[in-house]
Amino acid sequence: MLITNHVLSGALIGAAAENPAAALPLGAASHFALDALPHWGTWLSRSHFLRVAVADGLTGLAVMGAAAAVTPPARRAAVIAGMVGAAVPDLDKPTRIFFGFSPFPRRVDEFHSRIQDEAPGRFYSHELVAGALFAGGFAALTAAARLRARKRAADADAGAGEGASAETDVPPEISGRTGARVRAGLGARAKEAASLLAPLRQRL
Ligand SMILES: [Zn+2]
Repeated sequence: MLITNHVLSGALIGAAAENPAAALPLGAASHFALDALPHWGTWLSRSHFLRVAVADGLTGLAVMGAAAAVTPPARRAAVIAGMVGAAVPDLDKPTRIFFGFSPFPRRVDEFHSRIQDEAPGRFYSHELVAGALFAGGFAALTAAARLRARKRAADADAGAGEGASAETDVPPEISGRTGARVRAGLGARAKEAASLLAPLRQRL
């Protein structure tokens, strides 16, 4: 399968994973699972392979950068770990092209090439469809994560502005810490008022 699609599926896994330590091995496992599914491959010539591989490698790198950039900071490490895990098994492609060797044990390389279900003419029907699904899933999870991050930031802002909110008519039944602080503020204000009224009451 194209490295771009491995990167996209790794991004999706990272966006869904608990943390980076879970995303990394899940991403690597997804690589072999996807290579075992029907995908585009079997090139006409070495130059054809190189054309596809270079375009795919550069697209994959660009997708990595873009996915990391749009992910909120709290989720970014997991997304990067998922993408790296999913891309690493194909590291033997560039090292073979540039240095003529694979960094992996022979058993791994043999397994990796044995599981391939490749055929020509599957770019649109398989690769593009898979890529769109992974990208769509990643976009949905990332949009949700960004909304959560924005809400947390808004809640934190509201918490910081509490001193002022005690002066306004925020209902004291608001739950949680904010509510407790508002109630304490109102209590202090009531005591203040009572102490101001005390001399007046004595005179009456
Ligand atoms: Zn592979």
